[in-house]
Amino acid sequence: MTIQYLPPKKISSFYPPQRTLMGPGPSEIAPRVLAAMSLPCIGYLDPVFVDMMDELKMLLRYAFQTDNALTFPASGPGSVGMEMCFVNMVNPGDKVIVCRNGVFGGRMIENVTRCGGTPVVVEDTWGEPVDPQKLEDALKQNPDTKVVAFVHAETSTGCMSDAKTLVEIAHRYGALTIVDAVTQLGGSPLYVDEWDIDAIYSGSQKCLSCTPGLSPVSYNQRVVDLVKQRRTPSQSWFMDLDLVLGYWGSTNRTYHHTAPINGLFALHESLVLLREEGLENAWARHTRHYLALKAGLEAMGLTYLVKEEYRLPQLNAVRVPEGVDEAKVRKTLLSEFNLEIGAGLGPLAGKIWRFGLMGYSAKSENVMLCLSALGSVLM
Ligand code: PLP
Repeated sequence: MTIQYLPPKKISSFYPPQRTLMGPGPSEIAPRVLAAMSLPCIGYLDPVFVDMMDELKMLLRYAFQTDNALTFPASGPGSVGMEMCFVNMVNPGDKVIVCRNGVFGGRMIENVTRCGGTPVVVEDTWGEPVDPQKLEDALKQNPDTKVVAFVHAETSTGCMSDAKTLVEIAHRYGALTIVDAVTQLGGSPLYVDEWDIDAIYSGSQKCLSCTPGLSPVSYNQRVVDLVKQRRTPSQSWFMDLDLVLGYWGSTNRTYHHTAPINGLFALHESLVLLREEGLENAWARHTRHYLALKAGLEAMGLTYLVKEEYRLPQLNAVRVPEGVDEAKVRKTLLSEFNLEIGAGLGPLAGKIWRFGLMGYSAKSENVMLCLSALGSVLM
């Protein structure tokens, strides 16, 4: 046998440029988190690692503000956390109300359909929060609804919905709740237990400022009971909570899949940083830098997509001024200032820019660079 398929060019080590990340994620990673990631790998059942897993669970309970035993980082990006909720909680024929006010609500609908469930969609305008009255009307018309799903912090628009009220309505009609907190966690207030959220997932790469590829999740006892009562196994082997529990849930851990060890070192460090700063201080820091960015953007004549009271400090969606080539502006910011900002998605493509202030990226240097760079490009 001869060796074939040699790369057609000499390929050297890859060194990414140093960018200022102010898009919708990933955010910049704190040096301590990067350093933790580069520590030597150890086994996923090494007793030292197992102790660290317990600490990770404690730190995630703090971040989510929950006592849920089943709180852990799922291996995979936010989409895995999303899918883990649906494949475990939705069986063929189940009715699920999905509130859609942006891109990620649309993905939830896809998940329901792929699980064989029947989605009932409550639509709201992109850039506006989910309307609690519309959810209540939908529940009245569909009293057999098993689950209500919605996105707390819609990254595609920068709009926050009232999770507490939506969960309270869902429970009044006997439905369980799935909440997307990918952009919320660590950036704005979130109280999983106080708001009685049943299932929630997030991502490591936004306000936690960790490396991408991990999805913190948390499930309350109602979800655990539901999973235990299933008569047929979940359609997904990898995301079957019953099986994953053998590794993350019990004290007597057994192999399920090879955990992303170094990524978990990094998540542990990013959560230690969050604990050191304090949740409320982290939320306040996001708000402080949002206010500074807003003052500068508005001084340039730019306007926000979302009404002030529903705005996410960590995701600023701003209208592109008439006659400006929005893609060219983003390209210039990247090539001349090493600054990444985000474009609009779906119906908002070409109409908005998205400025992220997430986690380690939420700092004054970034606000100042962004305002001066954008000011000079728009002049
Ligand atoms: N949900 C929301 C609100 C998001 O913003 C994202 C990603 O940006 C996801 C889900 C999917 O996460 P990931 O890209 O990590 O799979």
